Amino acid sequence: MLSTAQNSPNDRLNYRLLGLRERIDGAARAAGRNPGEVTLLAVSKGQPAARVRAAAALGLRDFGENYVTEALPKMAQLTDLGLYWHFIGRIQANKTRAIASQFDWVHGVDRVQLAQRLSTQRGHFVAPLNICLQVNVLGEASKGGVPPEALPALIEAVRELPRLRLRGLMCILPYEASPAEQATGFGHLRQLLQEARARGVAMDTLSMGMSADLESAVAHGATVVRIGTALFGSRDASIAAPAVE
Ligand SMILES: *Cc1c(COP(=O)(O)O)cnc(C)c1O
Repeated sequence: MLSTAQNSPNDRLNYRLLGLRERIDGAARAAGRNPGEVTLLAVSKGQPAARVRAAAALGLRDFGENYVTEALPKMAQLTDLGLYWHFIGRIQANKTRAIASQFDWVHGVDRVQLAQRLSTQRGHFVAPLNICLQVNVLGEASKGGVPPEALPALIEAVRELPRLRLRGLMCILPYEASPAEQATGFGHLRQLLQEARARGVAMDTLSMGMSADLESAVAHGATVVRIGTALFGSRDASIAAPAVE
């Protein structure tokens, strides 16, 4: 029997990726959308560099990280692959220089001061930093994200910053959100994008949906889904949530 390789970690990764593509494609088609409009952003927090390399070998190009101190050494081991790195975690002011210089995208900008620091600290000989603004679409207390009513002013401020390229909007719904809350939250983010476009703001990205709620996000227009556990399996919690960044 030559079958033991079927159970190797890379085979499991391939199997989960196929299942994920089915979920994304099915949700897109059910909504009358082209599955090619949805980018799978592989969230590699809590996963070692070798797993990212294996995922890249399966065709994935975009990877998301939440913690600068975890991400930088991992990224340094993978420079040969030419991957696109997205910072998707909470942005601490003392980490903006590293984020601005090492990442291609930042999802989760919700304050003009952070945007200004990122723009100032972005190098002049690389492409502008792609930005998604995080919106607190369900009005949750103590959650990150700009309140919807403050979004237009933040958009106008970020548009002016020379080293940033405003790409779109992002939201994170609570894991326990009901299907009705998912529809409300994701629908609201899409509506906010459409309103901004109607005012002449060129944005093309809706970063919404994770392992548990990607179908609803795709149904409501997600162009980027951020997927961790459904792709890589469970994370090493000690890596994924460092006590101190
Ligand atoms: C961890 C994380 C994800 C991925 O979550 P899964 O449930 O593992 O798919 C997506 N987005 C953000 C902002 C995250 O922090």
